[in-house]
Amino acid sequence: MAKIIVLDPGHGGPDSGAVGNGLREKDVTLAIAQRAARLLRTMGADVRLTRNDDRVFSEDKATDLNERADFANKLHADYFISIHINAGRGTGFESYIAPSVANQEAARHQNIVHGEVAGVFQGTGLPDRGKKTANFAVLRRTSMPAILLECGFIDQVEDASRLKNLAFLDNVAQAIARGAARAVGLGAASPAPNPVPKSLSKYYKDIIPGMEWGTDSVDALYERGIMRGDGQGNFRPTETMTRLEAAVAINNAIEYILKQTGKS
Ligand SMILES: [Zn+2]
Repeated sequence: MAKIIVLDPGHGGPDSGAVGNGLREKDVTLAIAQRAARLLRTMGADVRLTRNDDRVFSEDKATDLNERADFANKLHADYFISIHINAGRGTGFESYIAPSVANQEAARHQNIVHGEVAGVFQGTGLPDRGKKTANFAVLRRTSMPAILLECGFIDQVEDASRLKNLAFLDNVAQAIARGAARAVGLGAASPAPNPVPKSLSKYYKDIIPGMEWGTDSVDALYERGIMRGDGQGNFRPTETMTRLEAAVAINNAIEYILKQTGKS
């Protein structure tokens, strides 16, 4: 049975969440959740989102939060991750679990996921505000380990500039996916036929566990000069390709083949 991970993009519909610097919390949380969902699916998780567009279960805030938790409870999910953007003139990343002594698994998961995401923030100079507890409805009402992530401050110029950068959102989503995969033990239940794990990309840092099946191709395309990353060590494996980028890659491939066969 695949591990079921519920991603909960905070707010939606008439509830924008926090706003600032031209951003709305509900848009940023959805962008991060959708990116993390794609990655976790490539790792074999059964990922469900409490919303996959700009809507809510209920326009009544309390009812909506309860519905989000019940959504995960009915699925008997293995992990619940609520994604939010902070406000209030702070800066950096923090995470929350419910303040219960019986919450050891949630705390263990928090250690892993928090470490991954905080690392991305710290990598761009934004602080780790720490692992916290709070009695939030989605944490209190969910019957599986649950975490709520506050991914930067929308009303802080430095944080908002990161949140406007799609590469940063990719990195945050990758960190969430990596952390969640490690926390629930994705792949641990069904070992690959080859017990020796392949090393990941020689050229890129964002070819992560779960992408083993494409790593050789990515590296070969680099070595043959057919397709390169962003010049900063990222291949951006989950981003879509434009027609222009496709034209360049296809033409590079044709030139490579012609060179190999001595026809050019
Ligand atoms: Zn929020």
